[in-house]
Amino acid sequence: MVAIGGGGYVPARILRSFLKKPGSPNIPIQAIGLSLYESLGTDPIEEPGTKVTRTQWLDLSSLEMANLIGKNVLIVDEVDDTRTTLEYAVRELQKDVEEAKKKLGRENEKTTFTIFVLHNKDKTKKGELPKEIIGEGKYLAAETVGNVWICYPWEAADIDEHDRLSHAQQ
Ligand code: 5GP
Repeated sequence: MVAIGGGGYVPARILRSFLKKPGSPNIPIQAIGLSLYESLGTDPIEEPGTKVTRTQWLDLSSLEMANLIGKNVLIVDEVDDTRTTLEYAVRELQKDVEEAKKKLGRENEKTTFTIFVLHNKDKTKKGELPKEIIGEGKYLAAETVGNVWICYPWEAADIDEHDRLSHAQQ
């Protein structure tokens, strides 16, 4: 698994428990950190309005990237909002895995990427995902929701207050 932080970390850890097969080792979780900033619109090369910044990435020269070669990789995030972050994560991971394959002479090994999000917001997306993901059942959203702001329990400083507000909304 590759968890996109910070929001994807807790869902990835929970998923790992559900995906664990008796007698098999735990699925490793690699972490990447991506932040989405609103651009001031002064850079004509950037996508209008948005810019993804890496705060943490996998080390191309180490085992981290080589570990993905030939595997079914599940990319985990908490929410697919404008899709900008997911587009960036998939494009850059695919690119880096291809580079690592060439470097290590493992071009014949196929790596597939699947996406899991807890929530997909039903809205016009800015980002695009490759056809081999979106068109072939490799995009999984636990729930599709409207264009609302979601407060996740792991963001709450006061979990009792979070639960109270959550129950009050139901
Ligand atoms: P994107 O617009 O690239 O799909 O999402 C960027 C990031 O914005 C997400 O990974 C998430 O961290 C944050 N985000 C977007 N919508 C929500 C939301 O409704 N609630 C929370 N807590 N974070 C959100």
